[in-house]
Amino acid sequence: MDKKQLLRKLPKMDELLNEEIVKLEAGTTMKEIVMESLREAVDNYRNLILKGKIEDFTKEGILKSFRIIIEQKKQPNLKNVINATGVIIHTNLGRSILSDGALKNVIDAAHNYSNLEYDLEKGTRGSRYSHVEELIKRITGAEASLVVNNNAAAVVLVLNTLCSGKEAIVSRGQLVEIGGSFRIPEVMEFSGVNLVEVGTTNKTHLKDYENALSENTGAFLKVHTSNFKIIGFSEEVSLEELVKLSVKSRIPVVEDIGSGTLVDFSKYGFEYEPTVQESIDKGVDVVTFSGDKMLGGPQAGIIVGKKKYIDKMKENQLTRALRIDKMTLAALEGTLKYYLDESEAIKNIPTLHMILASEDEQKRRALILKEKLENKNLNFKFTVEGDYSMVGGGSMPGQKIPTYVIKAESSSVSPEQVDKKFRKRRVPIIVRLAHNQVIMDLRTMLDRDFDVLVDAFTEF
Ligand SMILES: *Cc1c(COP(=O)(O)O)cnc(C)c1O
Repeated sequence: MDKKQLLRKLPKMDELLNEEIVKLEAGTTMKEIVMESLREAVDNYRNLILKGKIEDFTKEGILKSFRIIIEQKKQPNLKNVINATGVIIHTNLGRSILSDGALKNVIDAAHNYSNLEYDLEKGTRGSRYSHVEELIKRITGAEASLVVNNNAAAVVLVLNTLCSGKEAIVSRGQLVEIGGSFRIPEVMEFSGVNLVEVGTTNKTHLKDYENALSENTGAFLKVHTSNFKIIGFSEEVSLEELVKLSVKSRIPVVEDIGSGTLVDFSKYGFEYEPTVQESIDKGVDVVTFSGDKMLGGPQAGIIVGKKKYIDKMKENQLTRALRIDKMTLAALEGTLKYYLDESEAIKNIPTLHMILASEDEQKRRALILKEKLENKNLNFKFTVEGDYSMVGGGSMPGQKIPTYVIKAESSSVSPEQVDKKFRKRRVPIIVRLAHNQVIMDLRTMLDRDFDVLVDAFTEF
């Protein structure tokens, strides 16, 4: 057929809309998307005809192309990925994944009306913050608490409430940048607080803080240098000393502890990471931390400390702008409940479980996955080897966790090709590349990811 004949043969929209497969699709998908996909399918064929690339076609061919186009359009932009990187709290991949308990609470809160701001005892308006406050107080030992959008918001709120228009004294060794957009000096400026830097990059002494004190001082700020380490000739003032100075000078100590673990990981053979309970116990006035780092919950900023300061924050107009949403609150309550019993927390909260799961466990899982892959007789050679995972998310920067990985090699496919194809899948797989190999860490992969991964390798 010549081009003209072929073009004339292209089906009309009405005709296509009457096809069974299109009608079926239109029953569940928005009409706009169905029409757009049909038009694109026909346009693709028109272009092929005009370029002389096809000599004939069938309506079935167009309908098949329509199906592919519409499936792509229906995929969400924010999609599940498989994290095979071995970085547990991967900020680019959404940090912590939620526990079953947290997830159930989110679904309930999202799908139903709730007593979010309603006092069921009194039948009057209530506070959204009340739902987790008792729980947080019990777990951390603090007098009061408040939860906001994230830890950055928590720091802004604390500084703005306690020392707007005044000075906050910070050690030069703690003027950190976290994740590119959170920089202590800028956050302070934004909060309306004047930064007074004391000490040097590697050493700060108590007398540096004492010398900087004035009638304008609003707070001592301590920031956990969570994503790097200064080693060698270095020194910071201890919390105890800072609290002593704070009591003497009647100036509050605020600590941005960053990851905010509620579990003492040194018990499990890890490097010591400061716990929230310890800071409260040592008398720090206000502590802030993230909900989705080592706590293993949703994105949130948690503020704990003395009631007189937290009460002031609750009255700050900024709180309204930084407030936590109901689904997050539901997830946070579901996560925190596990912490009433540490063994439950470790068993149920994926982030904690991933950090603490044994090397042997990863080896066992790696061998299961390897067998599944080898059963498919693929073009790849798979090996199981020892390697290291990382906590990530600016937590435990120096800590390498022994793990097991699967390495894939092929003489016909390059690691870069695997990486690229894996990223373009409906459920993308994020791997590590090194030494001409594709490396997949078992520690951050879930058992339910195994079959998806096997399918992905069969696509080459
Ligand atoms: C991660 C981190 C923050 C930022 O917390 P977000 O929850 O990401 O807003 C602030 N300070 C420190 C020390 C951190 O580690």
